[in-house]
Amino acid sequence: MKKHIKTLKKRLTNFDPKIKEECGVFGISNAKDASALTALGLHALQHRGQEGCGIVSFNGKEYFSEKRFGLVGDNFNREKVLKKLQGDFAIGHNRYSTTGENTLRNIQPFFADTNAGGIGVAHNGNLTNSISLRKKLVDDGAIFYTTSDTETIVQLIAKSKRSKTIDKIVDAIFQIQGGYALVMLTQTSLVGVRDPYGIRPLVIGKLKDSYVLASETCALDIIGAKFVREVENGEIVLIEKNELKSIKPFPLKKVRPCVFEYIYFARPDSMLNGKTAYEYRKNLGSELAKENDINADIVVPVPDSGNAAALGFAQHLKIKFELGLVRNHYVGRTFIEPSQKIRSLGVKLKLNANQSTIKGKKIILVDDSLVRGTTSHKIVKMLYDAGAEEVHVRIACPEIKFPDFYGVDTPTKKELLAANKNNQEICQYIGAKSLKFLSINGMYRAIGFDQRNESYPQLTDHYFTGDYPVKPIDELGDSKITQLSLLNTASNN
Ligand code: AMP
Repeated sequence: MKKHIKTLKKRLTNFDPKIKEECGVFGISNAKDASALTALGLHALQHRGQEGCGIVSFNGKEYFSEKRFGLVGDNFNREKVLKKLQGDFAIGHNRYSTTGENTLRNIQPFFADTNAGGIGVAHNGNLTNSISLRKKLVDDGAIFYTTSDTETIVQLIAKSKRSKTIDKIVDAIFQIQGGYALVMLTQTSLVGVRDPYGIRPLVIGKLKDSYVLASETCALDIIGAKFVREVENGEIVLIEKNELKSIKPFPLKKVRPCVFEYIYFARPDSMLNGKTAYEYRKNLGSELAKENDINADIVVPVPDSGNAAALGFAQHLKIKFELGLVRNHYVGRTFIEPSQKIRSLGVKLKLNANQSTIKGKKIILVDDSLVRGTTSHKIVKMLYDAGAEEVHVRIACPEIKFPDFYGVDTPTKKELLAANKNNQEICQYIGAKSLKFLSINGMYRAIGFDQRNESYPQLTDHYFTGDYPVKPIDELGDSKITQLSLLNTASNN
């Protein structure tokens, strides 16, 4: 019995619920160089994940899969690798994960053989009930190969009693909750799914006779595909025999895209709801400028995340815009470093003050967001060390007080600076002369939605408001209860 409990404990603890998949997904149908085009698409989506990348292709008979650690350009750049990925259909994935196991097994797309044929799955987002689902599946005898919540989807598809693959997919999607965009490759179709609130993004493109699915439009641009439309919230698109069919099997919900795609995550040239992320970010900057109450000699962006907002800010107030910080582009995002100590080091590695522009100046430093405060803390000091007279920090989004459970890597409440300190305390911590965040109203104005007006589309804005459209079941402790009851059950047997 003891051994049985030990095994159960091990099975549960092997799964790391803290894994956050931010990620980029891509898929293409009916294209001669499907895997090469997928590699290009993934390259354009590299900002969504740098830890690992993978491609699954299908040649009408067989599936092929290649997964690698690191960047797309370093891995899928050679004929030799791409040649292995045969077929006119392919899907791909860029993985971003800050915690949890960094193993090849966790790199997507995942592939499984079901009784209706093979299926490849690439997932961007985070399921809020994956621990509970996983527990049930394990109880029923499923053996998990990875520690990723995406495998839960694959297992649910495989376990479905429906005969057609698309019905199996619908079956699975009905059971999962959270923010997700999925691109799948079955033996007869390329499938795209967006969660009922449209939290995670997914767009449709067309390239001659091929359909393309991608996290962002920049992945369409790179291969010359035309933007068709966004996959709608709660929509499943099925590309079969060169035709696109749409299924909406879920109860209709009002679309609530993730505000962080607008603020930070999407590439500036990607289109979100009709405008580029760059335009929204400039608007965020000019709204921030409207709420500003101090004068300065220059506006300095935190590159690259604060560039557009700082430009909007400077243009609105007609203050000189200067590149007071220079970024080394050959270092990964500071966020991908696993520990706080290394993360601090990361900021130093990445940025340096440009003395000539900042010496003796009153500076307004603009960044898109403040999470743990690591970046601002280091940069403010850097600017003072380089001779700045005053450094005022302005953040082009409201205070992040609540963690995310839908696939954006924000830390726990304990680590979120604004969840634990007031404005004055944060200002003191980062060492600035003054600090201001954009108001929630200003943020809504910038993105073009009327602030919290029910008749307008809303955003998934829980970072600032604590308003979670999907209940974070696992995080609310249900999983702990589940774990306990499982162990109790085990010992009772
Ligand atoms: P911090 O240094 O912890 O305050 O984080 C703020 C910096 O990280 C800003 O420069 C942001 O552009 C960037 N950032 C914000 N959110 C994320 C995220 N989810 N993943 C990676 N970087 C982020």
